[in-house]
Amino acid sequence: MNSLSSGLIVKLKEIVGENWVVQGEDLVAGYVLDETPPPIRPQPNLDVVVVKPNSSEEVSKVLKLANEYDTPVFPRGGGTGLVGGCIPTAPGIVLSLERMNRIVIDRDNLIAEAEAGATLRDLLNASDEAGLFFPPHPGDEGAQIGGLIACNAGGSRAIKTGVMRNYVRGLEVILPNGEILKLGGKLLKNNFGLDLMQLIIGSEGILAVITKAWIRLYPKFPATATLVIPFESRTVAVKAVPKILHAGILPLALEYVERIPIERSAERLGLKWPCKIGESFLIVILAEQSNEALYAQCERLLSLCEELNSLEPLLAESREEQENILKIRSEIYSSLKPDMVDILDATVPPASIGVFMDKVEEIAKRYNTYLPSYGHAADGNIHVHIMKEQGWSMEDYDRVRNEIYAAAVELGGTITGEHGIGYVRRKSVGKFLNPMYVRLMKEIKHIFDPKNILNPGKVLP
Ligand SMILES: Cc1cc2nc3c(=O)[nH]c(=O)nc-3n(C[C@H](O)[C@H](O)[C@H](O)COP(=O)(O)OP(=O)(O)OC[C@H]3O[C@@H](n4cnc5c(N)ncnc54)[C@H](O)[C@@H]3O)c2cc1C
Repeated sequence: MNSLSSGLIVKLKEIVGENWVVQGEDLVAGYVLDETPPPIRPQPNLDVVVVKPNSSEEVSKVLKLANEYDTPVFPRGGGTGLVGGCIPTAPGIVLSLERMNRIVIDRDNLIAEAEAGATLRDLLNASDEAGLFFPPHPGDEGAQIGGLIACNAGGSRAIKTGVMRNYVRGLEVILPNGEILKLGGKLLKNNFGLDLMQLIIGSEGILAVITKAWIRLYPKFPATATLVIPFESRTVAVKAVPKILHAGILPLALEYVERIPIERSAERLGLKWPCKIGESFLIVILAEQSNEALYAQCERLLSLCEELNSLEPLLAESREEQENILKIRSEIYSSLKPDMVDILDATVPPASIGVFMDKVEEIAKRYNTYLPSYGHAADGNIHVHIMKEQGWSMEDYDRVRNEIYAAAVELGGTITGEHGIGYVRRKSVGKFLNPMYVRLMKEIKHIFDPKNILNPGKVLP
């Protein structure tokens, strides 16, 4: 039993049905965590009730009720977030949209109308079945549409195809007072008023609950190839990135990885990293509309390798080999996680990535620690991992993190290019964001949510 009013619980059951209101510490346990590394993950408050509405009208009624009872509401997607954004940190309602997972594809308009609880996997499958393609691929396919939009997720394909913000054409949202608002729609152009839709994209559940989205799809890329280009050192690998782009090659993904973490990931999966030579690697995925265009890009890239000072490049021969390379890349996070304190996603202007990584290496040396780094090289978005060190306190880890953030910001970058602020980056907001920016954010929050019902304690310092 929990401290929430029994009147509130009765009314919640009337709104969504008895079976969709979950109480009790054991039963809510699966709804109070996310993928944030445990050493920095906030302690969830178990004094919560999980509510699973099945329609926008039900979400609206739940929010009206929460207002009436002054009860916090924590919107939850797939729980794949890395900054504790969906974790309930006070007694209240965890709003899980998992039952709202319908997707309708409008082939003529190349638009998916997706409910917020559909997963990325659902959207990829539905698009594929309709002969279309949803280009972005933020790493975990269990993430939900609502969560992806609330975090403006990015991923490895952003270099060619952009981030969530570039695909959302319309949103249906429920405001904290329970009002239903539709923003945009199946439109490619819309200049009617301030763009509130773009304000809500990336708002991490503090301004409104997203219930439905109209998402732009694209024709499929029928021809794809995966190459691994090995280098003797990081410096040479990173220098190759702009040269690839200057040569007129725009890959679907251009990822930077290093031998130790990539081999650790392969080993954990029972696979072998296919490159025996080199310490640093660029994984290049090419995607084109025809085999001819693909061969031309492949040839251009392979002939460029000498100029890039690379070692012998590897072209994945089979689909299985392609998939294994991507699997090994996408599981690096899970393989490092047991020994990790934090995964950072500081982002710098792409041309500064080499200088940024030099600074990270210098910080690692000074603190006598290992900071494995990999990620979306062409976006200037490298994931630096702070690893557990014997005898270190949380203040020691904070010092290293702050130095990495300061290095990114000095280069014109940001402390987060993908994962957002959530709970764990809140204390950095005051330090690294302009005070006027913070003030405006607080005022906007107050306009949307004067009673601070929605995801309190997140994003704002
Ligand atoms: C292995 C792995 C790889 C990843 N790779 C990437 C990557 O490449 N790029 C990237 O950007 N991220 C990546 N992530 C992070 C994560 O997947 C994204 O942040 C994703 O957008 C979170 O979606 P979710 O549905 O799991 O949201 P949750 O974790 O459930 O919630 C995240 C935030 O969104 C809010 N929210 C959720 N649903 C709604 C809604 N319907 N309305 C309003 N607010 C809502 C929550 O309150 C919370 O603040 C990765 C995570 C993992 C574990």
